[in-house]
Amino acid sequence: MGIQTHKTFCRFCHANCAMLVDVEDGKVQSVRGDPDDPEYGGYTCMKGRELPDSHNAEHRLHHSLVRDANGEFRETPMAEALDHVGSEFRRIIDKYGPDSIALFMGSGGYQNSSAMMATMSLAQAIGTKHFFTSVTLDQPAKVFTTERYGKWMGGVNNFSDADVALFIGNNPIVSHYAPVGGVPPFSPSKRIRDRQKEGLKLIVADPRLAEVGQLADIYLPVKPGEDPALLAGMLNVIFEEELYDRNFVSAHVDGVEELKAAVAAFTPDVAAERAGVEKDQLVAAARMFANGSKGCAVTGTGPEMAGNGTLTEYLVCCLNTLCARFKQEGEKCGVPGVYTAQTPKRAQVAPPAPMFGVEGMAKSRFRGLGQLLFEMPCNVMADEILTPGKGQIRALISVGGNPEVGFPNQLKMRKALDDLEIFVQIDPWMSASAKRADVVLAPKQCLEREDITNLSEWWHERAYARYTEAVADAPGDVIDEYEMLWSIGKYLGVQMNLPGGPVPMDECPDKQTFLDLMTAGCLVPPSQVRQDVQAAGGAAVIYEDLHPVIEAADEEEQHKFDLAAGDMPKNLEKYGADEARAAGFDFRLISRRSKARFNSIGQPLERLGRKITTNPAYIHPDDMQQQGIADGDVIEITSPHASIHGVAKGSDRVRRGLISMAHAFGDSEAGKHNVREMGGSTNRLTSDEVDFDPITGQALQSAIPVRIAVA
Ligand code: SF4
Repeated sequence: MGIQTHKTFCRFCHANCAMLVDVEDGKVQSVRGDPDDPEYGGYTCMKGRELPDSHNAEHRLHHSLVRDANGEFRETPMAEALDHVGSEFRRIIDKYGPDSIALFMGSGGYQNSSAMMATMSLAQAIGTKHFFTSVTLDQPAKVFTTERYGKWMGGVNNFSDADVALFIGNNPIVSHYAPVGGVPPFSPSKRIRDRQKEGLKLIVADPRLAEVGQLADIYLPVKPGEDPALLAGMLNVIFEEELYDRNFVSAHVDGVEELKAAVAAFTPDVAAERAGVEKDQLVAAARMFANGSKGCAVTGTGPEMAGNGTLTEYLVCCLNTLCARFKQEGEKCGVPGVYTAQTPKRAQVAPPAPMFGVEGMAKSRFRGLGQLLFEMPCNVMADEILTPGKGQIRALISVGGNPEVGFPNQLKMRKALDDLEIFVQIDPWMSASAKRADVVLAPKQCLEREDITNLSEWWHERAYARYTEAVADAPGDVIDEYEMLWSIGKYLGVQMNLPGGPVPMDECPDKQTFLDLMTAGCLVPPSQVRQDVQAAGGAAVIYEDLHPVIEAADEEEQHKFDLAAGDMPKNLEKYGADEARAAGFDFRLISRRSKARFNSIGQPLERLGRKITTNPAYIHPDDMQQQGIADGDVIEITSPHASIHGVAKGSDRVRRGLISMAHAFGDSEAGKHNVREMGGSTNRLTSDEVDFDPITGQALQSAIPVRIAVA
């Protein structure tokens, strides 16, 4: 039949880059960026370009695996494997109750547009409180805590409107991630440089001079974990010099005096000293940010992983609020969200929306933590598995996650996974977690599925949408994740529900039906987008005329931001008074992203693996000399909790006193003997029981106190 070229999009990560895919006899031959796409313009990254390998690799799982009586994996037909999971779940629920079942949504699962809602729907149908997602591993504060200070119903300024931007620990050029208001992750470097030609001023704060820092007008090499000092110092300057938007603040913001009192102690001298930056640079950054007219401060995942995540996100909110970085009446809204349930877009503040600590939300048995909106913090999962008592987790299904290398306290999590009565891992590869599972369910890869662009639309400043068909044939006996979750629900006899109503449970609905049900209330339903995309020859559709415009405020309903909510000014004062360093651990290990991985995804791919064979430990050359370490030495890195190994690599882009390594790397089997091939997992160095955020449970996964020595 020859080669056929299809228009579709990548789902290796959440950026959903537009792609042209050559397929022959149902098999992916090659991929490249689609130069005609109006948003992506042909952009791809090295991970996306390896989609042929991720579909065709010989060691990809084509069949599910179930352990036999001897504990050996046995290839098992999908229907039989799902029946086995269903019957084990039934037995466990009958014996221990619904909370004994846990569901974890990981980074791999998110890339399937239906898997998140299918997982949450199954958890609710079972009636378990134990629904977890990877959000609580790296960025829970920005998702679950910031709306308690209020939310502007019109949304924040777009990056394309901005004349100034502040990126804190956010390197979108490699991570392909930014919160709303940050740079869209498709062609991020070009977008930034193009905007700079039009006058954008860029401020970057990061302990490491990463790719985006090299483009900055002001680069602040902030000490890891001391972002609150830097931000409080900038707020101090903004108050002292009255650089904030006084009209906006007097009309829309409460709690200003409390905030002003709390930042008073962070004079430029004090803040710069604690943050480890030049005082003049801090002052210049505050003036540059506040003197801009549009543009947001945003954080990556690093600042949240480095401790004080809730405080850092609060201070970022304060900066954006005092400087009124919001869309105003008559402007097009920043993120139209074609597949997002629509809410009123008005030039006013919505009432605070607490997402934790509310009556009726379930509590964990550990550390005073509890549900954040619909999910439990990952921090408590290992203890909820290992500790007998009411609600103990006895079964876990991980949807594209990799708990062995992603969760804090690796050795405890490994023990917990082994303690389960059944651990089910949905995974196309024998990942570190799959190796510990009782059942591995083999899913379709992205080009074998229908999907929509719901995961990337918070970066689309226009009403951009796609619905892709499956463009390649699925090998062996693999199915879509939503079908697996539906099958387990069907076996258990529970009713799954979605925003659009009950999911048919007699026969598995087709994907379009499932997607329509889960996006009820959106701007254009997936079934309509599918027709429009087909009419456009598979290309994206932009619904320009449906782009919502910000309406005037509803005078009947007036609310204000509250910058004193949650006693956060007092929390800042407490942080100011507490500058403890862990005695005997003179270095800080900071987390970084690897160009050849998306969290732990990509490790099994041969060509990506060749690009980065280990997880290098980047250290400043002067520190290496002082410690007697040479480039390429295997070093032992020891935290107060555990040790790992790493291969030393000199880099003058990291501050003195730091080690920079990728998180979610490697395998718990990595040690001195094989670290060059496998790479160490930094999550082994962390603890779920100390150094965690009291609201979100976010463990200290960056800025970890360590000492180093040649191994
Ligand atoms: S940025 Fe993400 S979506 Fe785009 S090509 Fe790379 S992996 Fe694929």
